[in-house]
Amino acid sequence: MTIPSRRTFAIISHPDAGKTTLTEKLLLEGGAIHLAGEVKARGANRRARSDWMKIEQQRGISVTSSVMTFERDGITFNLLDTPGHEDFSEDTYRTLTAVDSAVMVIDAAKGIEPQTRKLFEVCRMRNVPIITFINKVDREGRDPFETIDEVADALALDVVPMSWPAGMGGEFEGIYDFATNRLMQPTGPSKEFEGARHQFTGLDDATLAARLSPRALARLREEAELAQGGYSGFDLAAYRHGDLTPAYFGSALKKFGVTELIDALAAYAPPPRPQPAEPAPVEPERADVTGFIFKVQANMDPQHRDRIAFMRLCSGKFRRGMKLTPSGSGKPIAVHSPILFFAQDREIADEAYPGDIIGIPNHGTLRVGDTLSERADVRFTGLPNFAPEILRRVALKDPTKTKQLRKALDDLSEEGVIQVFYPEFGSQWIVGVVGQLQLEVLISRLEAEYKVEAVLEASPFDTARWIAGPDAAVKSFIEFNRSSLATDRDGNHVFLAKSAWDVGYQQERHPDLTFSATRER
Ligand code: GDP
Repeated sequence: MTIPSRRTFAIISHPDAGKTTLTEKLLLEGGAIHLAGEVKARGANRRARSDWMKIEQQRGISVTSSVMTFERDGITFNLLDTPGHEDFSEDTYRTLTAVDSAVMVIDAAKGIEPQTRKLFEVCRMRNVPIITFINKVDREGRDPFETIDEVADALALDVVPMSWPAGMGGEFEGIYDFATNRLMQPTGPSKEFEGARHQFTGLDDATLAARLSPRALARLREEAELAQGGYSGFDLAAYRHGDLTPAYFGSALKKFGVTELIDALAAYAPPPRPQPAEPAPVEPERADVTGFIFKVQANMDPQHRDRIAFMRLCSGKFRRGMKLTPSGSGKPIAVHSPILFFAQDREIADEAYPGDIIGIPNHGTLRVGDTLSERADVRFTGLPNFAPEILRRVALKDPTKTKQLRKALDDLSEEGVIQVFYPEFGSQWIVGVVGQLQLEVLISRLEAEYKVEAVLEASPFDTARWIAGPDAAVKSFIEFNRSSLATDRDGNHVFLAKSAWDVGYQQERHPDLTFSATRER
């Protein structure tokens, strides 16, 4: 099968570095399309979906992930949005399992920030190649060398400057691209980039003096020489392996560096990569359709409980109406109205290829981590379930609503919003999250969508671990520790621990068992 060209990527950054601005500019440049959060049910009115969006607005964060697509020079770019807020790292992590590369946006004045580093670690775990975009050069920033060295030291990456700013902040006069020997310059009082590109033969080209002030020119020549001489050259294999990052300077706000970034993604970023799976990794060239669900979003229309499962297609040519078997239920489903994230409104997809994301409407049959495949002979691995860092007991204000609560908790854990644990003893269910904000989301969705009023109480447990090992050992552990045992929504045994010490203690006493903080699905 010939696979059409795809670049499926995400932008990682610390809040405020400029991810949203850069996303908008990429989409504008790419002639798109589809802005964050605008995944809406066909025909559903705006009011219906806005209930849930209120949380986002009030907090000024994006809780949901969505997919944005644009095309250029015959390549389709799929940009997966990752929620920027720290508390939603779990969701973000999962989204990063569905991309082939990432763009790391760094604020030129701030350098590497905590969230950048965390997200970077996830990319590193999976050898996701990264292009660095050093943003906001139109403002006073740090010395560019400082930023580059920081990326190199903090992230243990080889950094290759691909362009260089001619001055920054008030002295900013443009950006010089090393590969093309072109200088991009601001136009008019807004100092935006409006396409003023000037071609030179090199940095020693005498005609550069006509474009830059003597001061800016002298500085550019001096710094560019150091930048090109002092760092390793660009090496595609090292980049693709995640050991080297090409770095571009830019200003998302003023549209500098955006074209170069798209060009770099087109030229260097990997097309769909083989995906870890059992019994063997899945190559994109494989003929039959396979994919996995990395995200389920329910905030479409609360009345209809409509959910969209986001599937990353890993192999084969997907056609509308085809039957795929989810690894969860094992019952084939016909995908009649898949969504491709094209154009102004979502479009019904007729075909999709490896690297594409398809939205599959369903009523809860599809869950995060599910594999979907034509032949049901493969299972993708590596979508982690993280050990919750916060556990809470759920108490109902109206005890007659137990059934509704159970349904809600099952639904929301299927979506990956929370994890739910059903203790062996006692009737109070326990929810686990990795960030505080998820608890607020839980309470507000219970009320809005399920009409269940609940309060969250302190739980006697501090963390949870999935137990595995030889059957007899597991069984005997369960016998002796029933008061600390629960099952997750799939019936797996979970040890609820009172502290990290408790986990260590049990591990020491039961060397034949494993107590895992993540469960790969
Ligand atoms: P996000 O939190 O990473 O999505 O960041 P935003 O895109 O919302 O940007 C945060 C703030 O930085 C906003 O006020 C933007 O207008 C501003 N900003 C983003 N990019 C640039 C830039 O290139 N130059 C300047 N001066 N400001 C920028």
